[in-house]
Amino acid sequence: MVSYKELGLVNTKEMFAKAVKGGYAIPAFNFNTMEQMQAIVQAAVETKSPVIMQVSKGARNYANATILRYMAQGAVEYAKELGCPNPQIVLHLDHGDTFELCKDCIDMGFSSVMIDGSSLPYEENIALAKEVVDYAHKYDVTVEAELGVLAGVEDEVSSAVSHYTKPEEVIDFSQRTGCDSLAISIGTSHGAYKFTPAQCTRDPKTGKLVPPPLAFDILHEIEKKLPGFPIVLHGSSSVPQDEVDTINKYGGKLPDAVGIPEEQLREASKSAVCKINIDSDSRLAMTAAIRKYLAENPGHFDPRQYLKPARENMKKMYIHKIVNVLGSNDKL
Ligand SMILES: [Zn+2]
Repeated sequence: MVSYKELGLVNTKEMFAKAVKGGYAIPAFNFNTMEQMQAIVQAAVETKSPVIMQVSKGARNYANATILRYMAQGAVEYAKELGCPNPQIVLHLDHGDTFELCKDCIDMGFSSVMIDGSSLPYEENIALAKEVVDYAHKYDVTVEAELGVLAGVEDEVSSAVSHYTKPEEVIDFSQRTGCDSLAISIGTSHGAYKFTPAQCTRDPKTGKLVPPPLAFDILHEIEKKLPGFPIVLHGSSSVPQDEVDTINKYGGKLPDAVGIPEEQLREASKSAVCKINIDSDSRLAMTAAIRKYLAENPGHFDPRQYLKPARENMKKMYIHKIVNVLGSNDKL
């Protein structure tokens, strides 16, 4: 058993309380590689932002659970080396689907876990979340649970249709599970194809897809039922069109990729939404930079040559999100 406290990590409790009060949201960036980790830490240090580094089950399978834990510990030390004496870094499990997986992460130094029982019947979702909360709270680890179903595909998590969170369930659910934060479904979606063209309208000037707006009425109803309770949005990449265009220009094929407009995420950040998950945008920024570099430098084969611009492009994106969308800068 390794406590996250020994690794220099923090849980989400104080961070979320401050974010809800201050009207901003904490970025939750997924990572699987060293370059992503470095870019996240550099961006957080330069903007003086707290940050959640999150790992899905797929990332654990890809990178190895032990390596990821030491990377998170390395992230804390790296932040200090970059000049941040007290970094606020959370290591969070994204979409834990069983008690055993959550327990394993808690025992290995995670400071926060998500138990996603959102696809289960209501009472089973509560029972599973409560089991995880009871274990996690013994070790001061915070727990995110989910009510409502997001559409889209994210690693092992996939659903064809979304079901908005029912505001009438949130009080009962949060009280009976004891969860520390609640992921809700108000129209965000996993992946780089958040909406089908049929769900969108088309901008007559640019020909680009315009997605349907988020259900802010549901968010506000939930806020009224649970004043000050931390709310989480998953699937909140914006799928920047310049990155998609770069990918398509240099041999990629991502027609009609569409995300959540940043103005809507900016608005959500000012509410009780205090954690916003961004994964696809990092993938797009990395892939766009690598495709461009390799197309322009066909004779190069040293991975450092193309991973360096990829890391820089991700860092630029992370800083943009922190400063211009979530407002979590200058909070350390
Ligand atoms: Zn998610």
